[in-house]
Amino acid sequence: MSYQLLDGKETSKQIKAEIAEKVSQIIKNGGKQPHLAAILVGNNGASETYVAHKTKSCVQVGFKSSLIRFDNDISECELIEKIEEINKNDDINGLIVQLPLPEHISEDKIIESIIPEKDVDGFHPTNVGRMTVGLPAYISATPKGILELLKRYNIKTSGKHCVVIGRSNIVGKPMSILLSQKNETGNSTVTLCHSRTKNLKEITLQADILIAAIGKQEFVTSDMIKDGVVVIDVGIHRVKSDKTKSGWKLKGDVKFDEVAPKCSYITPVPGGVGPMTIVSLLQNTLLAAKKEIYG
Ligand code: NAP
Repeated sequence: MSYQLLDGKETSKQIKAEIAEKVSQIIKNGGKQPHLAAILVGNNGASETYVAHKTKSCVQVGFKSSLIRFDNDISECELIEKIEEINKNDDINGLIVQLPLPEHISEDKIIESIIPEKDVDGFHPTNVGRMTVGLPAYISATPKGILELLKRYNIKTSGKHCVVIGRSNIVGKPMSILLSQKNETGNSTVTLCHSRTKNLKEITLQADILIAAIGKQEFVTSDMIKDGVVVIDVGIHRVKSDKTKSGWKLKGDVKFDEVAPKCSYITPVPGGVGPMTIVSLLQNTLLAAKKEIYG
């Protein structure tokens, strides 16, 4: 079977151009440049890379971006004080705190200390709750990006059986909720799988659309899927390689080479879900600047 790549890199370029156009309109009309602030604690290599991509993307679309860095030993209290200062700063529209945080800091407390109006990652319980009941909300960037990618490739979800592997609060769980919503990008029957799921393969074999957000390299193999499935690979794993200049290459949660030939569509890693996640964050920041969610 010949498969089509769901090209997140190219799609994200188009969306960035659309955002840049909207930003120049705002500025032409005398409005303010949207401003995203990012907090980075410590010097985790992967987090440094993600934040660098986000900052660069802000510049590409004409946003202002600020990076606030702290050492690993910052206290939870000090971090919350900084967040509260940003919450009150009218010049900043959106705030993200790059996860994971050091163990002595509660991620839940940090997420809850960002006011929902600036929570452009869509992790605050208020945004998660509003998303769940179908109210306007900032939607977590990775599931939002996946829905956008499906939409731009005209892949319908209505009536389909979507199987999501992984139930994290930032990917799997919101993904399963969004796909089951009574709307154009939902209307599917969803099965949410996790590490306690029995007979996983029996379930994945029924998937019309399979979303892999497991965090285990090349976990999904060709015997787990049926012919013609759409596969979305969320996983990102940095593995050593002597074939690349950097000495690293990226792999996903799906064993691409053997799975792709059975698919109708599949996302590559890199260049699939990753770039779509970043543009979704930009879209949320634009919504924040235009006060479209909370007025
Ligand atoms: P996570 O918090 O580690 O969650 C992993 C989920 O997979 C958990 O729900 C876990 O089940 C489930 N799982 C683990 N082993 C399993 C197994 N053998 N069978 C079935 N389910 C299993 O992961 P995450 O934050 O959602 O991230 C998942 C992957 O996506 C990671 O590789 C991450 O780096 C990547 N990611 C990529 C992007 C992007 O923009 N492309 C964004 C976010 C994350 P339990 O709940 O039972 O433990």
